[in-house]
Amino acid sequence: MQESLKHPVFKIISRIAAKEGIQAFVIGGYVRDLLIGRPSKDIDIVVTGGGIELARKVAASMKHPPEVSVFKNFGTAMFRYEGVEIEFVGARRESYNRDSRNPVVENGTLDDDRMRRDFTINALAVSLNEDDYGQLIDSFDGMQDLQSQIIRTPLSPDATFSDDPLRMMRAIRFASQIGFHIHPDTFAAIVRNRERISIISKERIVDELHKIILSERPSVGFQLLDLSGLLDLIFPELTAMKGVEKRGKYAHKDVFLHSLQVLDNIAPHTDNLWLRWAALVHDIGKPATKRFQPDTGWTFHGHEFTGANMIPSLFRTLKLPLNESMKYVRKLVLLHLRPIVLAEDVVTDSAVRRLLFEAGDDIDDLMLLCDADITSKNADKIYRYRQNYELVRRKLKEIEEKDAIRNFQPPVSGDEIIATFGIPPGREIGIIKNAIKDAILDSIIPNEYQAARTFMLQKAAELGLQPVSGE
Ligand code: ATP
Repeated sequence: MQESLKHPVFKIISRIAAKEGIQAFVIGGYVRDLLIGRPSKDIDIVVTGGGIELARKVAASMKHPPEVSVFKNFGTAMFRYEGVEIEFVGARRESYNRDSRNPVVENGTLDDDRMRRDFTINALAVSLNEDDYGQLIDSFDGMQDLQSQIIRTPLSPDATFSDDPLRMMRAIRFASQIGFHIHPDTFAAIVRNRERISIISKERIVDELHKIILSERPSVGFQLLDLSGLLDLIFPELTAMKGVEKRGKYAHKDVFLHSLQVLDNIAPHTDNLWLRWAALVHDIGKPATKRFQPDTGWTFHGHEFTGANMIPSLFRTLKLPLNESMKYVRKLVLLHLRPIVLAEDVVTDSAVRRLLFEAGDDIDDLMLLCDADITSKNADKIYRYRQNYELVRRKLKEIEEKDAIRNFQPPVSGDEIIATFGIPPGREIGIIKNAIKDAILDSIIPNEYQAARTFMLQKAAELGLQPVSGE
């Protein structure tokens, strides 16, 4: 493995560790990713002895010593060097009690440390010691599991998952990220221990969910979460979308599977986490709005409104941020049917303008979501939908070039209305401003100052207002 340890820090660690008479190893994700040819990120170094002291000495030996961050509680220290985070930890042994994922930690040997790792492929280590520098240390058959693409715990899977139930999410996340299979015994233990997920904080669960959502084929992770029974415990709003109901000749599609397909469809086009979230939850309002009409079959009228209304509480429950990202997801859920309606009807300028106004700068993301939402298996239908969206895109472009609605700023401001009519801020200002906006969106007047001012004077006259300076 020697030639793979390209980062210059390895040699420096090796030299200093030898001088101090201690042993150091690269371990975990870095070794795994190196072996499977995945871009590696952070480097974890495990040390028999003080990890913090070694980190300080390694940093101090450098020409421009980086700042070392020390986390005393965890016995770890970290610094950045040549674009990579390098974390040092003393080898340790862990024992758990049932109610917490925080173990009792003692100093241990390299083997103790490797036993506390979650999966065999994450327990591979490479020696940085001078006598066997670059040697792979693999006592749990991690290399074989890497080759057969298997995720398996080094020790009893029940103990591994019961000790730290977050590992169940991690197993599924790795399966989704690197496309490995979870060993049947390991997966069976996830199923048995699933209820233990309740001791894990929402933030940690969501962190893993994000990694699944950002993986190449997120449906893999969500299917496994569902199969294991974890999804029902952590995200019941998604499992509520499962299943197909049939009455007579009418059946609706499985909304859960459809949503996963939409998420997979959008994945190659965007790494925007929140756009991927929108794809996952765009139909979240369907279970609550599902009705059966004897003549026409299943309907989900208003599911976009119900879905959009569910987003803030969903975000609150999952401890996701209640900020612009939430509003963005809510907006896309709310608008996700609008381009379809546009494509189906005769497309009027006014409808296009209204959509542009409401979507603003998120219009391109909305169109990406709509493309991904086409999950029909019927080639004719797919062709027709795509053609329709092309038409909508052309119209959107044409209207935007003509009217610049995307970042709509009212051509007449509230302050100008106040000054013109000498009235205090109040209801009338809103009525006039809205009337101007509607007149522009409905093509009654152009999006220009003079036209808007004339319109304002007319509208105000209807409300019984006269300009103070006699226009
Ligand atoms: P990624 O960087 O993609 O999250 P990773 O495997 O590097 O993947 P980290 O969270 O950085 O994950 O953890 C580094 C290493 O620490 C892992 O490879 C594993 O050996 C160990 N590890 C992390 N979390 C756990 C855990 N909950 N239980 C046991 N070992 C863990």
